[in-house]
Amino acid sequence: MMINKTRILNEFIELVSVPCPSKDEKAEADLLVQKLQAMGLEVKVDDAGRKIGGTTGNVWAFLSGNVEGAAGLFFEAHMDSVPPTTGTKVVLRDGVLYSDGTTTLGGDDKVGIAAVLEAVRAVQEQNIPHGDIQLCFTIAEEIGCLGVVNLDPKDIRADLGYCLDIGGAPGIVTNSAPRLFDIYFTVKGKSAHAGIEPEKGINAIMLAAKALTALPAYGRLDEETTLNIGQIEGGAATNIVAEQAKFVIDMRCMDPDKLERLKNETIRCIREVVEAGGGILEVDPVEGCPAVHVAEDHTAVLLAKQAADNLQLPFELTKTGGCSDGNFLCGYGLPCVLLATGMNKVHTTEECLRECDLYDCARWVTEIIRITGEK
Ligand SMILES: [Zn+2]
Repeated sequence: MMINKTRILNEFIELVSVPCPSKDEKAEADLLVQKLQAMGLEVKVDDAGRKIGGTTGNVWAFLSGNVEGAAGLFFEAHMDSVPPTTGTKVVLRDGVLYSDGTTTLGGDDKVGIAAVLEAVRAVQEQNIPHGDIQLCFTIAEEIGCLGVVNLDPKDIRADLGYCLDIGGAPGIVTNSAPRLFDIYFTVKGKSAHAGIEPEKGINAIMLAAKALTALPAYGRLDEETTLNIGQIEGGAATNIVAEQAKFVIDMRCMDPDKLERLKNETIRCIREVVEAGGGILEVDPVEGCPAVHVAEDHTAVLLAKQAADNLQLPFELTKTGGCSDGNFLCGYGLPCVLLATGMNKVHTTEECLRECDLYDCARWVTEIIRITGEK
């Protein structure tokens, strides 16, 4: 099975040339809708854009399978790119794609989109038997995965998913990314004049400091767990015993249940110290994202491995400490792993992409679809 290199290269350049900042992806979405309709897919744009004040929603497309019993596949990539992203001019030098140095390339994440479009075309043109294929191109990933957060999970019609949005050469799969909590703590003490009657006050800053130093550990707690105190503020003036102090803890763990225990244990520890010192503690845990926690022997991993092996792309299973759309897809109950696309030096004007990685990424997706259709 073959892909059309000239076509995908031109299409990648076309896709990154359209301005596509977060929350203003309409031009790109319109172009994709037009392409997907021309390919004969069932296409829709959802209302996530309306919910976040953007110019368009997520673009969805569906191709019914022609093999009974084959797993339904879901491929996802985000449309938006980080600034400066408008006016991208692609320069091809020694087999590597760059911008002209004034913008990001936008390979994050247009390489994912281009690869998926090319793969579906290759499957259609070569009459490769396949199961259901669903595509979802999201908005506003770069500003907190807002597109995926605001999609309707009922729109997902697939058994397993691939999010094409990590660096490294095609063949690399991430099956593990942390669940994340941001826990907002407010310590309330009692104000008093610092010089005249400090003994009548309860210093919230000191209580917060005591509570934080009582934590058993911070930073990297173990191979799969981290805990960071990233923000702290408190007090109203130098001559007042501080009435209030606030801090935020970011904690992440690949194992969702373990993170739940760490969260409860951390809150308990801080509460104990604050209350022993006569303060009051308010806690607001906000779940930042669910975990990617797909077993090594899950079909989603095995298909990606088999496809990589067939194409002689070096397969590697990795973990990441970061969050992506894939986390939220997993949270919706879709077993979803991340596929490496070759994107490099992302979020900088030096962003680049090897031409061969663009092609390999498309071949990999095509092969995943092909072998899924064999089962
Ligand atoms: Zn990305």
